[in-house]
Amino acid sequence: MLTDLEIAKQCNLKPMEEIADELNLNRDYLEQYGKNKAKISLEVMDDIKDHADGNLILVTSINPTPAGEGKSTVTVGLAQSMKQLGHSVSCCLREPSLGPVMGIKGGAAGGGYSQVVPMEEINLHFTGDIHAITAANNALSAFIDNHIFQGNALQIDQRRITWKRVVDLNDRALRQVVVGLGGVKQGIPREDGFNITVASEIMAILCLAENYQDLKERLNRIIIGYSTSNEPVTVKDLNVGGALTLLLKEAFKPNLVQTLEGVPAFIHGGPFANIAHGCNSVVATKMASKLTDYVVTEAGFGADLGAEKFLNIKARTAHLDPKIVVIVATIRALKMHGGVDKADLSNENIPALMEGLKNLKKHTETIEAFNVPFVIAINKFTADTEAEIATLTKWCEKHQFKVALTDVWAQGGQGGLDLAKAVVQTIANEKANFKPLYSLDESLKEKITIVAKTVYGAKDVEFSSEALEQLDTLTKQGLGHLAVCMAKTQYSLSDDPVKLGRPEDFTVTIRECRPSVGAGFIVCLTGDVLTMPGLPKEPAALKMDIDEDQGAIGLF
Ligand code: ADP
Repeated sequence: MLTDLEIAKQCNLKPMEEIADELNLNRDYLEQYGKNKAKISLEVMDDIKDHADGNLILVTSINPTPAGEGKSTVTVGLAQSMKQLGHSVSCCLREPSLGPVMGIKGGAAGGGYSQVVPMEEINLHFTGDIHAITAANNALSAFIDNHIFQGNALQIDQRRITWKRVVDLNDRALRQVVVGLGGVKQGIPREDGFNITVASEIMAILCLAENYQDLKERLNRIIIGYSTSNEPVTVKDLNVGGALTLLLKEAFKPNLVQTLEGVPAFIHGGPFANIAHGCNSVVATKMASKLTDYVVTEAGFGADLGAEKFLNIKARTAHLDPKIVVIVATIRALKMHGGVDKADLSNENIPALMEGLKNLKKHTETIEAFNVPFVIAINKFTADTEAEIATLTKWCEKHQFKVALTDVWAQGGQGGLDLAKAVVQTIANEKANFKPLYSLDESLKEKITIVAKTVYGAKDVEFSSEALEQLDTLTKQGLGHLAVCMAKTQYSLSDDPVKLGRPEDFTVTIRECRPSVGAGFIVCLTGDVLTMPGLPKEPAALKMDIDEDQGAIGLF
C-alpha cells in the first residue's frame, strides 16, 4: 500500500480554473496562490446571494484515539462518492496546524485515496492564513506593550493582561514567559505566555465573522486585559482594530483546492476542537453552500467537542441549517474504548467491541438531542474482521440506526457509495429540525452544566473558586449572554483523558473561564487541558525530510 504522500504525488491535479468551473464560479473571482491553490474573493457573495442554500452535511466521530480516526478521510471520501453519483458537491475542511503536523499527526489532509491536494502545501504553510493570524495576534501584543511603555494612557494593569502571544507550534517551553526584560529601554517587564495560534481568539473570530465589517467589529470587541480600576480594556480602546483587520485581509478569503477526484474543497480556518471551537470558517461554508447542492463539512474530534461547538456556536451564530450528521466510527477505536491496548488492536475482539459501542451510543444520543438525523459511517481498516463488522452492523440494526461501511481510504469515492446514498436519502426523507442545546438567555453556569450533562453525560459539574469568581465578573460585565466554548480532552467523554468508553458518575471540573468576546463565547477550561500543547517523545518531525526533487518526505 502506498503512503498518503505517495498517493498524493501521483495525482494529476486539474488547473484551478477547471475547479472553479466545477462550481460554476466566475473565474475572475479566483486569486491564484501558486499552481494548485487559490483564494476566492468575497465579492463573489454579492453575485450568488440569491442562490438556494445547499444541503449541509456535518461529519463528526466517536472519541478518537491519538492517531485520529479518519474524519477528514471520510469527509473527503463522502464528497467524492457524492460526485460519483452525479451530485453537485463540495467539501469544507479545516487548515492543518503545524503543531500536530510536526507532533503526532504528521498531516491533516485526509488519507489514502480520499485526500485534498496538494497535500504537502496544505500541510505546511498553505496560503499563509495561520501565519497571518499569528502576525495579527502578536501585533496586538506589541501594541499593548508599546502602549504601556509610551505612558499607559489607558492605565492598563500589567498584572491583569489576559491577551497572550501565539505561535503555531507545540512548544511547551513558551507556556509561561516574562517579557520586557533588559532595562528601562526594553519596556516594562511582565508575565506573559504563548498559546498555539489555532486556539487563539483571532482564529475563532476569522472563522465566525460574516464579512469584513463584522471581522473588524469582532476584533474591536476583544478584551486584552483590565485597567488598574479593573475595567475591561479592548482593542477598540487601543484603536488598532483597523490595523488588525488589514493584517487579516487576505487570510479572510476562503482557500480553494481539490480532492484527488477533483471535488472542489474549501479549506479555511479552524483546527483544534478541543481547546478552540474547531470548525471551518463561516465564510467558506456559506460560499460553498451557495455554489453546490451538497456541502460536506467536518468539525474536529468527537461529537462531544467539534459537533457540539459546530451546532451550539457556529450554526447558531451563522444561522446554518445542518441537514444530517455523519458519525464516523472505527472498529479499532471502539475496541480501544472497550479496553484493548493499542498494540493488540489487530486481534479480533468482539466483547471489547461490544463494550466500546457504548461510546458510539452516547454520541448518537447527543446528535438526537440537537434534532438532526444521523448516519453512522464505519471507516474500514484492513485488520477489521468479518465477525467484527457483522457485530457492529447488527448492533446498529438493533437500535434502528442507519449505518454504512465505507472504504474511501482504500477505494476513494467508489468506497463510499452506500454512505452517499444513505445520506442523500435521509436528507430527502427525514426533516432535520436543528435546535441548539441551550438558549443564550440561560446563565453561563447553566449553559456549561447543560453541555456537561447532556453531551458528556456528566453527573455533576464542579467549579473552582477562580472559575466561579470569573463567571460572576463576566456576568456583571454584561457578558452572560455569550455562548460557552468548552476546552476539554478529546480522548474521553469526561475531562479525564484516561476514562475511555462511556464513563459514568463523573464530575466535570471547570478550572478557569476566559472571555473571547470578539468570538462571542466564554472559553471554559476543564480538567488539566492546556492551550499550548507539547511535543511527544518521538515527534512526527523526526521522519520528515526533503528529497532531491524538493518533494516532502514523511508527511502522512
Ligand atoms: P481525523 O480527521 O479523524 O483526525 P484523518 O482523516 O486525518 O483523521 O486520518 C488520520 C490518519 O489515519 C491518516 O494518516 C489517514 O491516512 C489514516 N486513515 C484514515 N482512515 C484509514 C483507514 N480506513 N485505513 C488506514 N488508515 C486510515
